[in-house]
Amino acid sequence: MAHPFRLFNTLSRQVENVQPLTEGQLTFYSCGPTVYSFAHIGNFRSFLTADLLVRTATALGFDVRYATNITDVGHLTEDDMTDATGEDRMASALRSKEGQQFANVWDLARYYAEELESDWKHLNLCEPTVRPRATEHMREQILAVEKLLERGHAYETDQGVYFSVSSFPDYGRLSGNLDATTLEQSVRDVVSDPDKRDPRDFALWKKDDAHLMQWHSPWGWGFPGWHIECSVMAMRYLGEEIDIHAGGEDLIFPHHECERAQSEALSGRPFARHWVHTRFLQVEGEKMSKRTGNFHTVRDLVAPKEKGGRGIDPLALRMTLLAGHYRKPFNFTFNTVRAHAHHRERITEALRIANGSPGDAALTDTHPGPEAMGTFAPLYERALGAMSDDLNTPEALAVLFEGVKRILSASPSPPPGQMTEAAAWLDGMNNLLGVVRAEHETTAVTAAAPDEDGHIDELIAERQKARAEKDFARADAIRDELSTLNIDVMDSPEGVRWKRKSTL
Ligand SMILES: [Zn+2]
Repeated sequence: MAHPFRLFNTLSRQVENVQPLTEGQLTFYSCGPTVYSFAHIGNFRSFLTADLLVRTATALGFDVRYATNITDVGHLTEDDMTDATGEDRMASALRSKEGQQFANVWDLARYYAEELESDWKHLNLCEPTVRPRATEHMREQILAVEKLLERGHAYETDQGVYFSVSSFPDYGRLSGNLDATTLEQSVRDVVSDPDKRDPRDFALWKKDDAHLMQWHSPWGWGFPGWHIECSVMAMRYLGEEIDIHAGGEDLIFPHHECERAQSEALSGRPFARHWVHTRFLQVEGEKMSKRTGNFHTVRDLVAPKEKGGRGIDPLALRMTLLAGHYRKPFNFTFNTVRAHAHHRERITEALRIANGSPGDAALTDTHPGPEAMGTFAPLYERALGAMSDDLNTPEALAVLFEGVKRILSASPSPPPGQMTEAAAWLDGMNNLLGVVRAEHETTAVTAAAPDEDGHIDELIAERQKARAEKDFARADAIRDELSTLNIDVMDSPEGVRWKRKSTL
């Protein structure tokens, strides 16, 4: 390999060479979102780190097996505090204003999971080898909890089954949270199970026969803890020992600390060799929050202006999000987005020149080697060198801009042959960074929330008016129109209600 692949490892707190268990292969697990609402750009910045890691490893010649999950049960509102109190995020989302438009919690999960995949494609994120869902791996989670109980790493109370942190002496090494009293302090205000033996212990299974999503287990009806799903799915699809595990920095503790403890207690072997975490994102210098109105989802930003969006080119958004190094705090600003939209225009123009005619790709091979890039090859090597050095995206982007400038300045009379090399180089750069051209067919982004543009409410009001005027043919026609939008209208004594149809 021309460049060693070097990444910062949260476990050792230093940049280290990636040394896969099996030479030439790379197993990689990246924690996906909890699908109780639209994922925001901060979530996507960490999915983008995973994507760039996969692209770089592939360009370096690794055969990558990439798993990223969908959490559709078990993530409690208080889970960030290591305790199993709080409420399941999916269930609480169903009770929210947006949630009322779904037939049930399964319907809500399916809707947001589909929307996630649509945003994923808009941002040119590469498809994982496998995208498992927590609810589809319940049996394995129950078996894992049973095994932890058998081995003395877990115990049962009236409320659930807990992992016994004291049974795993290495607990705390990943996050550096070694002090039990500090941990105790952090969960002090949370109402907790009085039978828990140690405040650090975390839930593997929560007993709850009233929960909206429940499964039968040896401990009665209930649902799994959040952390166990990732251990189980990572091991199922990638093996007991994996090469790299990634996520946002907020996952270091408790999620990854707990995942590591469970997995190693189960297998008796090291779980992930390399841990990669992406720093938080700020918006215009402030913490992103719904309350201050600076909370952005991908769809808000890329939807056309006439649909209430900001009309940003998705690849300009992608470029903005990767313009800062993943381990540094990142400040997202609309000025930066504008600058990248301008860069995107230049790239598109360079692509047009390099390919001879608009939209006519000169190359059929989308994985050109440096030999096809001729005089552009050193630029590609520099970009690959930057990316293999702990994903140095600012440097790699600078190289892209340099090459684009060269192509644009050679126009309108480029030297013969050079544009073929330039086209091969742009393809190589796209494989590495994913900002040169859209890679997926994407459907148009529709309204952000299930009825954010008020279209459904408008139709319902129109139908009410028609009914009041005894124009039943018109009222029925509107009901049919709503039906094609997958909306069920229910007339009740309290008035008209509507729901998204369940496709179960
Ligand atoms: Zn996870």
